[in-house]
Amino acid sequence: MPGCTRCGGKPFYTRRYSGETLCVKCFKDSISEKARRTISKYRMIGSHDRIAVAVSGGKDSLSLLKVLGELYLPRPNELVAISVDEGVAGYRDEALEHARKLAEELGVDHVVVSYKDLFGFSLDEALDWREERPVSSCSFCGVFRRRAIDEAAAKANATVVATAHNLDDYVQTFMMNLMHGDVARLGWLDPAYVDDSFPIRRVKPFLEIYEEEVALYAFQTGVPFQRASCPYMHEGLRSEVRDYLNVMEASHPGIKNVLLRSSLDVISHYARSSERGSVPCSCCGKPSSSGLCSVCRLKAEVKNHISFQS
Ligand code: SF4
Ligand code: ZN
Repeated sequence: MPGCTRCGGKPFYTRRYSGETLCVKCFKDSISEKARRTISKYRMIGSHDRIAVAVSGGKDSLSLLKVLGELYLPRPNELVAISVDEGVAGYRDEALEHARKLAEELGVDHVVVSYKDLFGFSLDEALDWREERPVSSCSFCGVFRRRAIDEAAAKANATVVATAHNLDDYVQTFMMNLMHGDVARLGWLDPAYVDDSFPIRRVKPFLEIYEEEVALYAFQTGVPFQRASCPYMHEGLRSEVRDYLNVMEASHPGIKNVLLRSSLDVISHYARSSERGSVPCSCCGKPSSSGLCSVCRLKAEVKNHISFQS
């Protein structure tokens, strides 16, 4: 096997889509470089931004915190880690501990918000009600999660929220939007999308990095992360789309990269049209299509169920 394409060192990983072989050091450097190039290409982060890194405690988000720490500390930009405690018994505590430890090691603040404090119920309590709803746990949880991240970022006085969505996550979401007939919301996936109602920019520095490479980076940097998955995961369409794309990539190396470029092209035609026709939620003031946003609608339904049960 040939040596590292960059330095001639001991080969560790070959990118089938580009033919490049890398040693461990050059591989790790390449991940930081890719993130830096993505940030610059989509103008994700400016020199005066305070960056909130959404850290769940899994491998992707801890890797993102590590990479952004490398890129931005100790330069003037400030980093802060933010985490959401959804309230899943026996699962989230370990992940939050990993997030807390890495934040401490890097010397950055760590802001934690919980569903219980923000919405009045934990995910366990809310999903007790889900049986009656034709919606997957992750779609349901995602509505609250997105709002909780916004609240944590605001609490941390951030101007940018960075999430660890990678290339695989992105193309899966694109395909799922198509399969759900949710074309009007494709604009939300624009990497440069700015939601006028929410002044904090949302960015994805791992947008152009394969999930497999983020995982390898996490293993090679030795950051302890939570390996157990959320007990509510592996539901719905996403797992099937993920498996399908992995099979396609195995027989056609680079096809996920092509799909990313095609997705971005399609999405650019929908950018900034997603909020058209939105009206403020009568309950919380955030944008909604019907006068009541999905967070407030679902929250009311869960609370009704909880009071009905008690
Ligand atoms: Fe919520 Fe799904 Fe994440 Fe579990 S895996 S915390 S249900 S979004
Ligand atoms: Zn609302």
